Amino acid sequence: MKYEAFFERHIESLRQEGRYRVFADLERKAGAFPQALHRHGAQARPVTVWCSNDYLGMGQHPLVIEAMHEALNRCGAGAGGTRNISGTNHTHVLLEREIADLHGKPAALLFNSGYMSNWATLSTLASRMPGCVVLSDASNHASMIEGIRHSRAETQVFAHNDPDDLARRLAALDPHRPKIVAFESVYSMDGDIAPIETFCDLADEHGAMTYLDEVHAVGLYGPRGGGIAEARGLSHRLTVIEGTLAKGFGVVGGYIAGSEALCDFVRSCASGFIFTTSVPPAIAAGALASIRHLKASGVERERHQERVATLRARLDRAGIAHLANESHIVPVMVGDAALCKTISDTLMERFGIYVQPINYPTVPRGTERLRFTPTPMHTDDDIDHLVASLATVWSELGMREAA
Ligand SMILES: *Cc1c(COP(=O)(O)O)cnc(C)c1O
Repeated sequence: MKYEAFFERHIESLRQEGRYRVFADLERKAGAFPQALHRHGAQARPVTVWCSNDYLGMGQHPLVIEAMHEALNRCGAGAGGTRNISGTNHTHVLLEREIADLHGKPAALLFNSGYMSNWATLSTLASRMPGCVVLSDASNHASMIEGIRHSRAETQVFAHNDPDDLARRLAALDPHRPKIVAFESVYSMDGDIAPIETFCDLADEHGAMTYLDEVHAVGLYGPRGGGIAEARGLSHRLTVIEGTLAKGFGVVGGYIAGSEALCDFVRSCASGFIFTTSVPPAIAAGALASIRHLKASGVERERHQERVATLRARLDRAGIAHLANESHIVPVMVGDAALCKTISDTLMERFGIYVQPINYPTVPRGTERLRFTPTPMHTDDDIDHLVASLATVWSELGMREAA
């Protein structure tokens, strides 16, 4: 095989489709978020970031930065090992306690990323329970899908957020088989939210476990930032709540929260937990400070919701259609990969606005979009400049009618 030619051919086909991925080379500015420097060739220009998953700006919060500096100076750079072999730092222990408390669960388990927590936990649970069937929402994140696939357990994909389809599938299964209903709370691309209570009722009725990915909700929703389940008073109904420390909490890492026995089981059996060096103590300390702060402070959450509402209202006034949902994610549909990229490039080059085009395979073909994530740090001026720039681009490209 001509290896190089094979790689190049594939890349060329991505370019043809207009979905070749170009990473924006950014330098984030602590204290100035959402402002950043964008480097392109020899140039470095200031841009306003409109697509960060650092939803609350916790990545630059003084308490988080201070906790990380302090732990770095006290403990050094790396954790020094896997959790089992010299890599459990006291900060990891404190962080797992804090996460368990956040979700009202007896225990929690820390992973190196949210991706790993989904992959490792679902693959372990589904492969180890004899005869297990996984009922997986059709819009689940790649990390859940890959974990479930790796388990080789029977999988039933139910229609997105559809309790009737889930009910039908559960009813058709052998009541004695173990079952996991796996879904998310906030879906990050459409911003819609699962009927968590109904899914829990169905799971209970059919003796199934529930596994909820709250990655796009932790820190952002609920009186203490425990997510949509906390906001709706449902945390106790879920068997497993999975989350990330990288989005609302602004650092990096992932976790599950659940019963003592379940967390101990995953701790003892999951390859993706066992055979990897634990996160640096400074990372754990930063995440710990972030969770503690957001448990006590609702200011960020309130301001966040207000900014989202303001952006939506101003888009409406400018006649720019956006997908309605109950969450903080503001998708503006474009429906074509190449056009989506053109708009994104124009916003960056002419208006200093950075929003990444979202293309297949992240979303289905034909639903390409711009996905805006306002944060508490986006000012009225930032919002006005974004909406005016979009309006200009929309009229130049003749998109008003489509909107
Ligand atoms: C981002 C994401 C993950 C992975 O979390 P990381 O901490 O970034 O690895 C898991 N689930 C969903 C729904 C996500 O969007």
